[in-house]
Amino acid sequence: MSAVTGLPRTGDPHTEQFVGYYRDLAAPVWEQVADKDFVVQWQTMADLGVLRLADPGTEGPGPVTRSLAMIEGIGLAGVDPGICYALASQIFGMQFPLRAALASDARGVLNGVEDGRALLCHALTERGGGSDPLSMATRARREGDGFVLDGAKTFITAAPIADHAIVFARTAEGRSPFALSAFLFPLDLPGVRRGETFTKTALPTVPMGELLFDDVRLPADALIGEEGSGLAVMASTTAWERSVILGYALGPMHRTLTRTIDWACGREHFGRRMGASHQVAGRLSDMALGLHRSRVQLYAMAARLDTGIPARQLAAAAALTKISVSEDFVRLTEHATALSGVRAFLTGSELMADLAGPMAALTYAGPNDLLRVGIARQLGLAVEN
Ligand SMILES: Cc1cc2nc3c(=O)[nH]c(=O)nc-3n(C[C@H](O)[C@H](O)[C@H](O)COP(=O)(O)OP(=O)(O)OC[C@H]3O[C@@H](n4cnc5c(N)ncnc54)[C@H](O)[C@@H]3O)c2cc1C
Repeated sequence: MSAVTGLPRTGDPHTEQFVGYYRDLAAPVWEQVADKDFVVQWQTMADLGVLRLADPGTEGPGPVTRSLAMIEGIGLAGVDPGICYALASQIFGMQFPLRAALASDARGVLNGVEDGRALLCHALTERGGGSDPLSMATRARREGDGFVLDGAKTFITAAPIADHAIVFARTAEGRSPFALSAFLFPLDLPGVRRGETFTKTALPTVPMGELLFDDVRLPADALIGEEGSGLAVMASTTAWERSVILGYALGPMHRTLTRTIDWACGREHFGRRMGASHQVAGRLSDMALGLHRSRVQLYAMAARLDTGIPARQLAAAAALTKISVSEDFVRLTEHATALSGVRAFLTGSELMADLAGPMAALTYAGPNDLLRVGIARQLGLAVEN
C-alpha cells in the first residue's frame, strides 16, 4: 500500500518522526500477532512502549503529543482498529487523567498499566442508560473509613479482562452535582463479579462486558479526590477522551484513503481511469479533507493538553473535536464504501468497508447529539439535555 504523499503533515518534524518510528516498529511485530487473541496483542503493544507516558519536560514533543503520535503510528502499521481504540481509551481516558488526579504515592497501579501487566477499565454506563450519569443506581455507602459498593456497570470496554476499574457511584441521593463519587480499585476484591459479556458489531476484537458489585468493601484510599467529586472526575476523564481518543482513527482513515486512491487510479471505467472522473476525484479530495481536518484538530488538542492546562477547562473544544473527528471518520468511510462498489461488502476483500466502527464513535465518549446540546448551552442557549 502506498502512502498518501500529497497530504500536509502537522509541520512538527519531531512528531512526524515519532509517527514514522512507531509505524515502522509496529508493522513487522503486528504481522507476528495479527491472528492472536486480544491479551497477547495488548501485551505486544505494551512491550513496544505504547502505554508508557513520557514525563512532562522530556525533550521533543510533549507527553500527550507523543502518545498520540504512537497511536497514529501503530494504526498506520495496520494494527487492528479495535486494539488501537482500546489503547487510546486506556491512555487518554484513564492513564493521563489518573496521573493528574492521584497523589504521587497512589500512582503505583499506573506503573503496571504502562508495561502491560495491569489493565484499567472506565465503568460509568449502566443498563438503564449512559447519557445521563445522574440517573445511575450504583451506590457506595460510607462504612467506617471506607465504603460499601452495590450495583452494576454495563457495556464497559475491557470489563471481562480488566484488573482495576474506575467506577462511578452515587454517594448521595438526587441530582445534585455532588451526588456522585469516583473510585479506583482492583477487580479481585470480594463481592466483585464479571457479568454478561457482549459481542459487538463495532470494534469486535475488543472485549466488552459487565461488572457486578455486591457488598464490595472499598478502602478509603479507593476514593479518587473527595467524596462528591465524581462529576468533576468524570468531567476530566471525558474531556481527555473527547480531546484525543479519536487519534485511534487517524491510522485507519489514512489506510482507507490510500487504498481507495490506489483503487481509483487502477480501475478502468468508461474507457478511462476511474480517478479521471471529477466526481470520483471530488470524493477522494473530501476524504483527504476529513483526514487533514481531524489530524490538525487532534494534534492541536494534544498540544494544548501538553501545556498542562486541566482537561476540564478544554471541555467545549474537546466536544467540538470529538464531534468533528467522529463525523469525518464516518463520512470518509462512506466515500470509500461508495467508491469501492460491491467489494466494500465482500468479507475478506481488500476494499471491505467497516462502517460500524466509525459509527460507534458517534456514541461512545458522549453521544454527539448530547455533546451538541452542551455546546449550544455554552453558546448561551437556554437548552437542557
Ligand atoms: C464501542 C463502545 C464502547 C463503550 N465503552 C464504554 C466504557 O468503557 N465505559 C462506559 O461506561 N461506557 C461505555 N460505552 C457506553 C457508552 O458510553 C454509552 O453507549 C453512551 O454513554 C450512551 O448511552 P446509551 O447507549 O445508554 O444511550 P442512551 O442514553 O439511551 O442514548 C441513546 C441516544 O438517544 C439520544 N438522546 C437521548 N437523550 C437525549 C437528549 N436528552 N438529547 C438529545 N439526544 C438524546 C442520543 O442520540 C443518544 O445517542 C461504550 C459504547 C460503545 C459503543
